[in-house]
Amino acid sequence: MLKLPIYLDNNSTTRVDPEVLEAMLPYFTESYGNASSKSHEFGWAAEAAVQHARNLAARLINCEPRDIIFTSGATESVNLAIKGAAEMYRAKGNHIITTEIEHEAVLDTCKNLERKGFDVTYVKVNESGIVDPGEIERAVNDKTILVSVMYANNEIGTIQPVNEIAKLCKEHKVLFHTDATQAIGKIPVDLSDHNIDMLSFSSHKMYGPKGVGALYKTGKLPRVRIEPQTDGGAQEKGLRAGTLNVPGIVGFGKACEISAKVINKEAERISLLRDRLLNGIISGVKDVKVNGDINNRLPGNLNISIPGIDADSLMMSMKDIAVSTGSACSSESVEPSHVLSAIGLDKKLMRSTIRFGIGRFNTEEEIEYVINKVNEKVKYLLSINTLSGNGSKTKKGEYAEN
Ligand SMILES: *Cc1c(COP(=O)(O)O)cnc(C)c1O
Repeated sequence: MLKLPIYLDNNSTTRVDPEVLEAMLPYFTESYGNASSKSHEFGWAAEAAVQHARNLAARLINCEPRDIIFTSGATESVNLAIKGAAEMYRAKGNHIITTEIEHEAVLDTCKNLERKGFDVTYVKVNESGIVDPGEIERAVNDKTILVSVMYANNEIGTIQPVNEIAKLCKEHKVLFHTDATQAIGKIPVDLSDHNIDMLSFSSHKMYGPKGVGALYKTGKLPRVRIEPQTDGGAQEKGLRAGTLNVPGIVGFGKACEISAKVINKEAERISLLRDRLLNGIISGVKDVKVNGDINNRLPGNLNISIPGIDADSLMMSMKDIAVSTGSACSSESVEPSHVLSAIGLDKKLMRSTIRFGIGRFNTEEEIEYVINKVNEKVKYLLSINTLSGNGSKTKKGEYAEN
């Protein structure tokens, strides 16, 4: 039986995998020690569990376990990487390069550094939402200390040519960081060529618990150094002070282990569901625009605009389906999505945009239900558009009010 509501917002967060929860539970009850306690069994058990999780996280991205720093999530990892490197290398230069389509974690961190005297170049993307490595290279000058380009975008799912960009950065002796929060656990990422200096990722985007993440920092020489952003303890080699979230880290480790095992099969299954969803909507709604490169994208992401439809009205008319309009993070504000602006979408189409995020626990049956519902509601909304004769604007109030 189909269970409602249907969750199709997996780019915002994901359900904790039952196996992950199972692995975490003992670390709340029997093994509740502090991983920094060196004098007794409780502490040793916690430390061993953290070490095991570190091994599992490292295995997923093919790096050394000692190069993993556990944090409270990708936002903290990004702050530590970018601010940490900016402060450490300030004497060398004050120029940072990033892109217009980054997550707020990166953009707001860069804005903060601009207020402190750093120069930031925000490189544009093409209409498909892909960054041109040549544009990054052209932006490099003798003051450039860091380039940060996301691995995959959270709104339109586009996958960036980060390996190519990382290689260029190495040639120019500029540090390279990537916010890989949407990519890790969804598409294979391999750090063994050591061109990527730093990489941020998060547990709750890959079926692990919220409030835990990691920063990978290469241990390869010459050493990449970053200034810690918290003081108060020697945890994580002094780079991230504070008692470790042991149950969270254990869950994160389990999530990494599961992903490593299922990643290829799961990506195939989810991308088939995504394609079925798109084709199903296209068969019912003639006019659909896909935002972002359809081939070069995350398996579970579908971001579309339906001309003439107010996305908020559509969403409100199908409350048994959890999706988001534009970016989940900016949907509380009335600002138009910076990602949709960056790919050149006009304001009208932006309001007609809806993001579906398909994940591990979605079924074919759910996708069929969503296709039927979307097609039915779009048809209805378009019909009342015509009746009210106010062009592409729907009678939003009727649907937006709960
Ligand atoms: C979710 C997300 C973040 C923030 O991660 P948290 O762990 O929630 O802090 C950063 N970057 C991208 C691309 C994201 O999707």
